[in-house]
Amino acid sequence: MVRVLLLIMSVLLFAVQQVSAFEVIYPSDKKNVTTNDYAFFVGKAKSAECLTINGHSVPVASNGAFAHSVKLKEGENRIVLRTAYGIQVYKFYKSNVTEQPIPTENFSPVKAYVKNDNTPLRSTPVDAGLNRLSHLFEGTELVINGSKGSFYRVFLSDKTEAWIAKAHVTLTDDTFQPAEFMNMDSERFKNAMIQKISFNKKLPYTVEDGENEIIFRVYNSELGEESVYNINIPKPEKYSYSVNLEQGTYTFKVWRLPEDKNEITVVIDAGHGGSERGAIGCLGDEEKNINLKIAEYTAEYLKNKDINVVMTRECDADMSLNDRVNYARENKADIFVSIHLNSIADIPMNVHKNRGTSVYYFNNNAKQLAEAIEENVTHYAKTRDDEVRTASFAVIRPTDYIGVLVETAYMTNPFDSVLYRNDKWLKKAAKGISEGILDFIKK
Ligand SMILES: [Zn+2]
Repeated sequence: MVRVLLLIMSVLLFAVQQVSAFEVIYPSDKKNVTTNDYAFFVGKAKSAECLTINGHSVPVASNGAFAHSVKLKEGENRIVLRTAYGIQVYKFYKSNVTEQPIPTENFSPVKAYVKNDNTPLRSTPVDAGLNRLSHLFEGTELVINGSKGSFYRVFLSDKTEAWIAKAHVTLTDDTFQPAEFMNMDSERFKNAMIQKISFNKKLPYTVEDGENEIIFRVYNSELGEESVYNINIPKPEKYSYSVNLEQGTYTFKVWRLPEDKNEITVVIDAGHGGSERGAIGCLGDEEKNINLKIAEYTAEYLKNKDINVVMTRECDADMSLNDRVNYARENKADIFVSIHLNSIADIPMNVHKNRGTSVYYFNNNAKQLAEAIEENVTHYAKTRDDEVRTASFAVIRPTDYIGVLVETAYMTNPFDSVLYRNDKWLKKAAKGISEGILDFIKK
């Protein structure tokens, strides 16, 4: 009897598995522990199956892709995905993290040295966002007079303070010795302007990209009073700039984008690659592969328009963010366009809103390019206008090229997945990106 029952049960189970066509791609585990506010699901189902998640009806795209997020309560959450033919249950344990506010400590000024080049000096003690004032050089001498969490407060002048990660500086008990000003010198070229200022040691600086000029400020902080050197360089409409420090001599350079398009080098960067897959789509597609296809079509399109194009990767290879930036610099990039597809995780998914094209920039010099690409991709690839935004991505932070990052569509949007699985659409997206770059160059 028991054996017959088992047999019937296993036949039934087999039957259920056969007809249950829905599959969850993410999350990969049925049991999850998280601090996120939302549980995010992507996968495939047949639209006729009428998928629900915790009772909410979930729209399914023509290719079967779906995405949905569920708000989590603290503790145990049971999430049931159900179709006419099957059921899958996921468990999420949400642990509560209550962050204690960190107090600011004040102390008497101490001298410190910056350990490495390219160290971010920030306006707030937070390791994220758009709060970078400059990138300091190894050996820069600082006055530290407080701390908060993992940051030290930097005294720049009576009016200006900044923050630097504790891990990036060495504190010393060296005595304070204000720097001696040596000299100042400027050179004007047809397309560039260079300003030099020398001291007998390495001082901190900040950059402000103003309305009509770039303002570099060097602080003789050890004087303990307002002692700031302002270097204002007028900026052309399309521009880049760089800062160098040798011994105690700063070289600030601002230059214009070449007017002749044959003199412009565009670097096309296919995001991720190799072991870094990027976002995973509803149907299990890997972002890195789609990025590469769009990047190849973009490069081809631009080459046909006589633009000098360099690609950071041309196959499925690992490449660090630093390597991408260095490679662009070695190739004297004027314009840098990083190609990606977006994803969402810890926010409420809205299949109608979280889709389409967005272009990100970090420096003001790339805003126009971002807008031109947004306009052209939404026009040619018929994607939703998901706006131009600012973000602090490593590959678009350098100021010596004009850099943007394009999120062509959303990997995690079921309706966008219909687009990015179609080669014709990939070509249209590439055309949009290319025409955006060409519009920017022409303007
Ligand atoms: Zn990406």
